[in-house]
Amino acid sequence: MDVLVSLCKRRGFIFQSSEIYGGTGAAWDYGPLGVELKNNIKRAWWRDNIHLRPDMVGLDASILMHPQVWKASGHLDHFTDPMVDCKACQHRFRADKVEEQSWIHYCPATKGNKFEVPAGEPCKHCNVRRSLCPDCGKGELTTPRQFNLMFKTFMGPVEEDAAVTYLRPETAQGIFVNFDNVLQSMRLKLPFGIAQIGKAFRNEITPGNFIFRTREFEQMEIEFFVNPLETIDGRPADEVWHERWIESRFAWYQRYGMRRENLRIREHEKDELAHYAKRTVDIEYQFPIGWSELEGVANRTDFDLKQHAQFSGKSLTYFDEERKQHVVPYVIEPSAGADRSLLAFLADAYREEEVRGERRVVLRFHPDLAPVKIAVLPLLKKRPEIVTTAHDLRATLARRWVTVYDDTAAIGRLYRRQDEVGTPYCVTVDVQTVGDSAKGEPGDRCVTIRERDSMEQIRVPIAELQGIFERLLGDGAWADVARSYPPARG
Ligand code: ATP
Repeated sequence: MDVLVSLCKRRGFIFQSSEIYGGTGAAWDYGPLGVELKNNIKRAWWRDNIHLRPDMVGLDASILMHPQVWKASGHLDHFTDPMVDCKACQHRFRADKVEEQSWIHYCPATKGNKFEVPAGEPCKHCNVRRSLCPDCGKGELTTPRQFNLMFKTFMGPVEEDAAVTYLRPETAQGIFVNFDNVLQSMRLKLPFGIAQIGKAFRNEITPGNFIFRTREFEQMEIEFFVNPLETIDGRPADEVWHERWIESRFAWYQRYGMRRENLRIREHEKDELAHYAKRTVDIEYQFPIGWSELEGVANRTDFDLKQHAQFSGKSLTYFDEERKQHVVPYVIEPSAGADRSLLAFLADAYREEEVRGERRVVLRFHPDLAPVKIAVLPLLKKRPEIVTTAHDLRATLARRWVTVYDDTAAIGRLYRRQDEVGTPYCVTVDVQTVGDSAKGEPGDRCVTIRERDSMEQIRVPIAELQGIFERLLGDGAWADVARSYPPARG
């Protein structure tokens, strides 16, 4: 994780929020490359889950909602985590996570020497297990208290109880309260889904592990509504749709390059299930901190719509034409974190390789996710024709793809820099491209394209560059494109 955090800072992906004031461990800022990466993840998710599907529509609901929403949804009463405090150092912990961190121990068997014992293990000298504060190793922990994770604020100029509202802790409720608006305005038929990407806020007791758990984050959520009276091949439609969504979401991460062996499905145990959920699975990723939730896919039944109907007094039903009756749809909810996905894509793409005795760091991002698609590099920055041609090429390519120009180092170094931020293709303009007008030598008007992963290089005419990138950054494979052009000198 430390390697990723430092790469992210050094190369402009992610900075600590308010760093010049000492930062906060609970919020992070996306730099120039990070914002591109995150936008690309969100764009890919939106395209695949909304634009490419006939049964999905999008929504962008507000963060501040009527406070009754949180009463109806259960968040006001139940969106809590058990919290314990250290009586000595006052540090706070989530009671259910306290065993997941290493702990400080003053060992009586070694004259009170201080050790850091790995999470969940006993001290190897005295065999005692943790009972005190894991951070200071001295204080007793209080008994657990429930702590509500919602951020409270005031709507309007008066700070009084009547003006209390909350920053949404999830985007889902914005979808449920708009169910009827979307249904009527879009004339939808079940089954259909509403998707939304947006910020959510949780006053997490122990945020941490970089962008894995923060207090402000972005969610990518789908509520897929199903007619509970319907069956598919003799099985309840909601159960079948739940399975379809688990498969679809599991495949999605792999489509964008995440390795299969780093993904797994974890079924929620009966005692872990929310009381309204019929079944929930987590899609887990093998993060640098271990296997953890990347996305949850839950069958929430008709709980949310029924709650909002009851609290608002408005009917939130669907008229089943065939059966001539009103039904409250069941809902399948695939709920993913944009920041957590970014962390997983980043961790998965990160490789350290040895190339001709030198270490190279490369981010093997899927081209759709890579923050920069093409870097145009002049081989010699002293030759004005080379520099002008390279600038012109950048300007042309940038109309279609994120393209950068860089001449601040020797070519080998420039390639390494682009590898390190995951740019799939570099285009190099050299002496051969432009020729030498003083000597009356025309250039060949060809440039070199270098592919990030194989580091292979081909020589292609500038006139064909646009078409080549249409293929390379579309569905074309490098090997198929490269076959048609001569290799360039490495
Ligand atoms: P956890 O058990 O990790 O606290 P959760 O089960 O509370 O997560 P959900 O309510 O299911 O999470 O939220 C859906 C998704 O939103 C999660 O899978 C995760 O990707 C993302 N998410 C939730 N909380 C955070 C957070 N504090 N920081 C970053 N992402 C989060």
